[in-house]
Amino acid sequence: MPFHVMLIPTLGCPANCSYCWSSEEKSPIMSIETVKEVVEWLKSLRGDSVTFTFHGGEPLLAGADFYREALPLLVEGLSPRNIAFAIQTNLWKLTPEIAKIFAEYNIPIGSSLDGPQELNDLQRGKGYYEKTMKGYEIARDHGLNVRFITTFTSHSVKFKEDIFNFYLENGFTLKLHPCLPSLKGDNPEKWTLAPEEYGELLIYLLDKYLENMGRIEVMNIDHLCKCVFTGRGTVCTFVDCMGDTFAVGPEGNIYPCYRFVGMPEYVMGNVYDHPTMADLAQSDAWKRMHQFKEYVDTACGKCSHIKYCRGGCPYNAIVPTNGEIKGVDPYCVAYKMIFDEITSRVNEEMFGSSDMDMFFPQTMKPSKRGIMSLMLKKI
Ligand code: SF4
Ligand code: SF4
Repeated sequence: MPFHVMLIPTLGCPANCSYCWSSEEKSPIMSIETVKEVVEWLKSLRGDSVTFTFHGGEPLLAGADFYREALPLLVEGLSPRNIAFAIQTNLWKLTPEIAKIFAEYNIPIGSSLDGPQELNDLQRGKGYYEKTMKGYEIARDHGLNVRFITTFTSHSVKFKEDIFNFYLENGFTLKLHPCLPSLKGDNPEKWTLAPEEYGELLIYLLDKYLENMGRIEVMNIDHLCKCVFTGRGTVCTFVDCMGDTFAVGPEGNIYPCYRFVGMPEYVMGNVYDHPTMADLAQSDAWKRMHQFKEYVDTACGKCSHIKYCRGGCPYNAIVPTNGEIKGVDPYCVAYKMIFDEITSRVNEEMFGSSDMDMFFPQTMKPSKRGIMSLMLKKI
């Protein structure tokens, strides 16, 4: 797992999506002084390449001046190691000025759209779609690479075909995640996608992807296939992320990942103190994350997918139970379903004999591409 530091310039966000768990009004904005301290902290922490992802809240609220100063500070301050950047934003606040800065640093953008306008705005709020598409056009005009993430909820999963077709017709790459129970509001489960439904959705998308090979990319399916093929996780959910991923909040607090930012019980230290790995390891958050890793070794010990699943995301597993480790990621059911499906299709393709072999000569067999084409795909 490459070293990954998520910078959260603010927890504020101008949108107010129904199922969001992280937007906080009146959140402060990270100062340039804090960015300088991030550099000093990392100089003493470890010496390898770093990928910085700007996340939020809404990271563009920090404004053009923040990025104009922060990006060279990070690159030059940590020279000669390789520094890469990415940003996750709803694009509402993207201006040509910011886009120009991002283009200079070749920053790929991850944004969020839940499908066609009506469906998207129902889940994310009226006017969301238009504002995001406006930002998307600015990004595209500046040659920036934008990929959208779709959050599938208990509602939108009923329109999975419409969502898939929306991505296909617009030439967008599809990345998805299931809607988690919200940690705010009176009805936290309202939008939550049940684990079985998520598993069925992934299998559905695998089929749709194979039917439309070469016309669309479905990133999650690419990664799930790659996990099974290589026998190791290729995204954070399926590796032991602890120790290789950190997030820094607006005031310089260090957390295990952006998902914990703003939760005082998960603060591991502060960049102004330049904590070493040994210092961070003394924090309760570090200990809890590592207890999860040990728990997975036992709880998932008999699962054939353990090497490339690793119990899923520790946030999903421990936050809903107030930090107590009572189980693995609740999406285990979905992970098992899709990993089993991929494994059995690979076995069938590689070793199984199809009944059709007896009736059709080789040249007459259907030419539909199978799962091996995804396994071998470069990602
Ligand atoms: S806590 Fe979950 S989302 Fe965060 S880095 Fe780990 S696996 Fe990824
Ligand atoms: S599929 Fe479930 S049991 Fe298997 S490793 Fe993943 S979380 Fe553990």
